[in-house]
Amino acid sequence: MDPKAPMRTSAAWSFDPSTKTPLLGYCPNCRQSVIVLKARIVGVAGDQYLLEGNCKRCGEPVPFSV
Ligand SMILES: [Zn+2]
Repeated sequence: MDPKAPMRTSAAWSFDPSTKTPLLGYCPNCRQSVIVLKARIVGVAGDQYLLEGNCKRCGEPVPFSV
C-alpha cells in the first residue's frame, strides 16, 4: 500500500461534465434519447456519476449517469 497514492474519493469529484460532450440522456418528456445540455454532477453512486442536464429538444431536466 503506497500512502502517497491519490485518494480515489477526491479524484471522483474532479470529473468535469463539460469535457465530455455531447452527452446523451433519456428525456422522459420527449420519450427518446436526447443531447443533454449544461450537465452537472448531482451525486456519485459507486463508479457512476449521477448527472442532470437540460434536454436539447424541450429544455426539461434530464437525469442520467455516466
Ligand atoms: Zn426533451
